[in-house]
Amino acid sequence: MSGGAAKKEEKPRKFQAIKGVRDLLPPETALWNRVEQTAHEVFATFGFGEIRPPIFEPTELFARAVGGETDIVSKEMYTFEDRDETSVSLRPEATASVCRAYIEHGMQQLPQPVKLYYMGPMFRRERPQKGRYRQFYQIGAEVLGGIDAPAIDVEVIEMVMTFFDKLDLQGLRLSVNSIGCRECRPKYVELLRAELLKVKDKLGPDSQRRIETNPLRVLDSKLESEQKIIEKLPRISDHLCKDCAEHYAAVKQELDLRGVKYRENWRLVRGLDYYMRTTFEITAQGLGSQDAVCGGGRYDSLVGLLGGPPTNGIGFAIGEDRLILSLQESGKAPVVRSRDVYIAWMGEKAHATAVRAAKDLRKAGFSVELPPVEQKFGKALGQADKLGARFALILGDNEVTSGEWTLKTLADGSQAKFTEPNLLEHLCRNKALSS
Ligand code: AMP
Repeated sequence: MSGGAAKKEEKPRKFQAIKGVRDLLPPETALWNRVEQTAHEVFATFGFGEIRPPIFEPTELFARAVGGETDIVSKEMYTFEDRDETSVSLRPEATASVCRAYIEHGMQQLPQPVKLYYMGPMFRRERPQKGRYRQFYQIGAEVLGGIDAPAIDVEVIEMVMTFFDKLDLQGLRLSVNSIGCRECRPKYVELLRAELLKVKDKLGPDSQRRIETNPLRVLDSKLESEQKIIEKLPRISDHLCKDCAEHYAAVKQELDLRGVKYRENWRLVRGLDYYMRTTFEITAQGLGSQDAVCGGGRYDSLVGLLGGPPTNGIGFAIGEDRLILSLQESGKAPVVRSRDVYIAWMGEKAHATAVRAAKDLRKAGFSVELPPVEQKFGKALGQADKLGARFALILGDNEVTSGEWTLKTLADGSQAKFTEPNLLEHLCRNKALSS
């Protein structure tokens, strides 16, 4: 609008989170923390240390490691020019960063293998849907260096399963496969390509394109019309070289030895270029079509590809968003406690006592709500109820003068009087019983 016309006051714009990204809010965040804490504990028992790589890296790192031809790099990265005109990208995954860090910090000098884990946000511009976001969280681990013994592959798998069991994740299915090595995989891929060309007309446009770009990915197809055709294609397990076949057989033997249940899935090829030999995927219940909670595999050439010495590597990434979703859907999400004690206080003397009581109770580990201004007891008790507090500690002039404090159990409305030391003891006993 121009001229002298009175401008209508513009309403300030209300902002919303960008499509495909979301806020994680309490009380759900308490569950996220619990999951992450469990990961720290379980991974430490397997001798893994935490690495926190940066969230953005040179674009070239991902192009080189993940593969310029993959969807992740060619379509889904958040890439921008930094002011010094270098191209940087938000990380779409963390394995490339961990390998970069391994080389940059000369970790090949450390006792091998080096066992690292990480957790944090990843960014991919995918089509959002349930269990698929543009900012999502992964918990992952990598074993770098040392020998490529099958027992290492299996220990990594065992670690994930131990973590999932500890969380009581339901309906787990572990699938394993071997996708061969630099020796046997290219020969198999050529054979696959030749077979796919014979049936090209019967395939959908995505698979037709992949015959040229990445024939292995055709095996990933979920298109109903392609299933019968795919089932008749040559299987990599029949074309592994001797070393790969032995490695794969030993992996399966070792899984049995450790009591890890699995099924073989010859179509499990994984989307990223750097995998070789062992690949695995774990699905969980309650997730609909996006039901993979963990994917992983061996990638012996990756560190070399990034300019480091030839180094064996194996790792996995767990989709934390999906893990949480599955726990919630199966009703296995632990109940998160709200406030233990709401302190309903009235009067100046009671204020000082309430402040002291809050300090002591918090020191003892209780979650305490101390209202900043006095409230009528009725209102305070209503507030305590709304917050889901277990107890209300009632402190008025009478209580302060007599030294007898009133504790109300909100679930049944019962009340009891306690002296200050008795109260703490009573609450501690109660907490021990309820936990
Ligand atoms: P990837 O890095 O593609 O092997 O994925 C490993 C795991 O990360 C998958 O099994 C999913 O659980 C999770 N994941 C991958 N992409 C997404 C996404 N866009 N949103 C949520 N979780 C994802």
